Amino acid sequence: MEDYEKCTLCGLCKVNCPTFQVLKNEGDSPRGKAILMKKECDDPIFFKCNLCGACKTSCPMGIDLGLKQHRAKLVEKDIQTDANKKMIENVRKYGNPFGDPDDDSDPDELYCC
Ligand code: SF4
Ligand code: SF4
Repeated sequence: MEDYEKCTLCGLCKVNCPTFQVLKNEGDSPRGKAILMKKECDDPIFFKCNLCGACKTSCPMGIDLGLKQHRAKLVEKDIQTDANKKMIENVRKYGNPFGDPDDDSDPDELYCC
């Protein structure tokens, strides 16, 4: 059984989700994403999540919804936003998500997750 299937949809993690706090839309909350995953709905809404991990740390059961892995599956199915496509293109071409040819920063140092 995947971790997201164990989610009880209590919504306690919503308060610490930065995306939900800004957008105030249930679909953008961790609970909303858990519902979509349980219903096997593939949706580009998953790309609004910034993968901060706050939902896991604030979940009383420590549930990891597996959002990063889920997004990777969506990319494989070519279900993603234009902005995400562009970012992948930039990383492949320039080694950074901004498309800056002069940025020689190590992406591993810039992004922790
Ligand atoms: S990982 Fe995504 S869903 Fe979870 S708290 Fe962060 S922004 Fe919200
Ligand atoms: S991830 Fe945890 S806190 Fe969030 S809705 Fe599911 S069970 Fe509740």
